[in-house]
Amino acid sequence: MSNDDRPTILIADDERLNRNMLAELLQNDYRILLARDGADTLERARQDADRIALILLDVSMPGVSGYEVLAALRSQEQTAGISVIFITGQNSEADEEFGLRLGAADYIHKPIRPAILIARVRNLVNLALQKRELERVAQRDGLTGIANRRHFDEALDRACRHAARSFTTIGLALIDIDHFKLYNDRYGHVVGDQALRQVAQLLARHARRPYDVAARYGGEEFALLAPEGHGITELAEQFRRSVVDLRIPHAASTTAPVLTVSIGAAMIAGTSHDDFRLTLLEQADRLLYEAKLRGRNQLAHSAFALAGERGKQGV
Ligand SMILES: [Mg+2]
Repeated sequence: MSNDDRPTILIADDERLNRNMLAELLQNDYRILLARDGADTLERARQDADRIALILLDVSMPGVSGYEVLAALRSQEQTAGISVIFITGQNSEADEEFGLRLGAADYIHKPIRPAILIARVRNLVNLALQKRELERVAQRDGLTGIANRRHFDEALDRACRHAARSFTTIGLALIDIDHFKLYNDRYGHVVGDQALRQVAQLLARHARRPYDVAARYGGEEFALLAPEGHGITELAEQFRRSVVDLRIPHAASTTAPVLTVSIGAAMIAGTSHDDFRLTLLEQADRLLYEAKLRGRNQLAHSAFALAGERGKQGV
């Protein structure tokens, strides 16, 4: 069932009979995961966060209670957006209010009425899928389909925070298509858009590691973010060469008879320095400018360490 693309529901209940009953009601329309206690629920939610549309969560479980599970889900970025329906045997208004305030989407009381359960689950799963689709669209660049500037900015923020905590390096390549205005003037915007798409898809194939992000940064500018900075230079140079290998004719270019890119790639060791993020962007931008000055279709790269003073060169 590895290619099961039905929405996924995680059923968490400490009693096997309850789990089985709920699973039986829902298994025709959904892919079902089961958890037997709070810790198990959190583990499974983390593992499958991208696929789980809804969690049916028993309030009273031994160890970690349903309330604690929901609070833990909400505290982690990865699982914070997953919808939760509480299933409870109690009929206390105060409890129900508490759960809803924690962020539960709904409450279902035992004994379960199958038709009501199925209808509520369907509504919430549909909402969850719509929300996910909106989020996906909001993060994509409409023309090229790769990450947009907004997604890039968020990913860069996250990567900088992580690198500052763990003192790891972070790599950033800024990429500019050479003489793209001349390309558009010569071949028209329809062909220009096509070239942007080709370059973007190629860049996406170079963002291979789990946290690498390939993004459209602006008009004909792209960015490749590598939170594990080592290797950014090789990756950027590989990409530059594969753009040449696309052999997209560019008769108006004064650099080469084909479409080429210039790249500035900077690598910085993580620091809690306030200017960390800004310096990384400025350095990559400055290197890109250098690559253009030196004749385009090339990579300019450098590694920096932010010590006491800003932008101090080192490493
Ligand atoms: Mg229970």
